[in-house]
Amino acid sequence: MAIRKYHKLNNYTAKYGLEIMAQVKLTDTTLRDAHQSLIATRMRTRDMLPIAEKLDEVGFFSLEVWGGATFDSSIRYLNEDPWDRLRALKKTVKKTPLQMLLRGQNLVGYRHYSDDIVIKFVEHAAESGVDIFRIFDAVNDIRNMEVAIKTAKRMDAHVQGTVCYTISPVHPIPLYVKMAKELQAMGCDSLCIKDMAGLISPQCAFDLTQALKKEISIPVDLHSHCTSGMAPMSYLFACQAGIDILDTAFSPLAWGTSQPPTETIVAALQGTPYDTHLDLSLMTEIKKYFEEIKEKYRGILDPISERIDTDVLKYQIPGGMLSNLVSQLKEQNALDKYDAVLAEMPKVREELGYPPLVTPTSQIVGTQAVLNVLMGERYKVVPKEAKDYVKGLYGCTPAPISRELIAKILGDEQPITCRPADLLPPELDKVTEEAYALGIVKKPEDILTYALYPAIAPRFLRGEAKEEALLAPKQNNDNEKAAPLPTEFKIEVDGDIFDVRIVSVGGGGVAIKEITQRPENMDGAICASMQGMVLKVKVKKGDSVGKGDVVLVLEAMKMENNIHAPHAGTVKDIFIKEGSTVSAGDALLIIG
Ligand code: MN
Repeated sequence: MAIRKYHKLNNYTAKYGLEIMAQVKLTDTTLRDAHQSLIATRMRTRDMLPIAEKLDEVGFFSLEVWGGATFDSSIRYLNEDPWDRLRALKKTVKKTPLQMLLRGQNLVGYRHYSDDIVIKFVEHAAESGVDIFRIFDAVNDIRNMEVAIKTAKRMDAHVQGTVCYTISPVHPIPLYVKMAKELQAMGCDSLCIKDMAGLISPQCAFDLTQALKKEISIPVDLHSHCTSGMAPMSYLFACQAGIDILDTAFSPLAWGTSQPPTETIVAALQGTPYDTHLDLSLMTEIKKYFEEIKEKYRGILDPISERIDTDVLKYQIPGGMLSNLVSQLKEQNALDKYDAVLAEMPKVREELGYPPLVTPTSQIVGTQAVLNVLMGERYKVVPKEAKDYVKGLYGCTPAPISRELIAKILGDEQPITCRPADLLPPELDKVTEEAYALGIVKKPEDILTYALYPAIAPRFLRGEAKEEALLAPKQNNDNEKAAPLPTEFKIEVDGDIFDVRIVSVGGGGVAIKEITQRPENMDGAICASMQGMVLKVKVKKGDSVGKGDVVLVLEAMKMENNIHAPHAGTVKDIFIKEGSTVSAGDALLIIG
């Protein structure tokens, strides 16, 4: 605490004439948002537990450890049960409240769930160790947060009501204040300004915090990202306006698209009226630990996520989304379209009524922008989620969508105006039955996991999922090395062209993994226009189909895409099954 000796609190306040305010508290996000933002949510539980006790010693307001993408990523990529992670952390972290990020009626998924699922999920999360629920809605529609807030309150949890911060012609400060007052009236224990894209400037942070502190009495938390580089400055300005809590992450997993560094904020505030009084020397140990962890995951750390980019102010892409966008474009072999997609994003956002970009609206806007660019025609392909959004199933859009676009996307259908979940019949009994019928229920929460992720949960719950391998770190001296051997070839057999992919099988051997006939050489073949997973095959061999019929559903970029029959005919052959992973250009089925 050497620094404090030189900045005695009283001297400081006397010198600058500042009022003494309560110390600022910190929420550490290293185990949730930080790795979601920088390494695509891939940190394993086994890399969290060894440091959990030390984290508990620091004296954070809370540790954000669950929710957001951590649930999806655990079962999709890590072969880990997210509920086990929560309970294991709870066992080790005895003093510090554990916090989760909950997407209102979307829970930790990408669509609205019925009220009975929301209630069950929140109850079970509270029972399994969540002390603080940070609850938000992507379009700031409080109706989508009601059931989750009420349930969390009933479970005696701390509820942090959240306003999603964004910049648009329809988002002035009084709008956030009005929403904050409503959240306080609903019983929220604290309020979070969720600046998921790192857009908030120091002056806006000051003005918004001051406006909120004037009108509400519950503590206010500022959550921001360093994407534009302004977050540490905005934190300081928010302190001067009386912010109570700031969100930070340990320095190895801070900066870039992640939060400002915990250690830096602690050091910067030492000796000021906002001093966190946290022990920096204890943090050195934790920092060292996460330095090693970062090295382990360097292979998935994209340099783009680490750089400061004020362009985000134009594109408004949240931290987690940017690293996802890069990997999605890589999957589609279209990283060269990155700039075009970035430019398309604000156009799509404006046309869709200026939603704040946060899951799931960020995926909806982002994927639509990707499709608009990749397809060469805007709104030619519209995923189900984007249709639902336009229909009002995600809530009231901040600004109205033009009649022309509604007509283009919905046809004759009309958007709804009620609370979206009022249209959803109870689902719990049905999914419980389904889950038992599939034989995948070993513990009660398996039903919830299945309810949220029906496409990927069965494989995981049956124990058939595999943990993805850690990518080897990228080499910096690529240009000095020999060019890698080509692994994909086109070969011609009797005038037909086939794609052949060669893969390594260990022991220095190689094998031909996939042979895909080139689509243009097969009459009536429907091919995948993007990399993805087959969710549903709606036809079987011999079926006759009409032009435009949905023949299968492809999950790509976390969105469901209906694949339509380009013409009427009979299904001659099907090359894939439900659960198959396909690449762009792969033949899916033939309609003759
Ligand atoms: Mn965030």
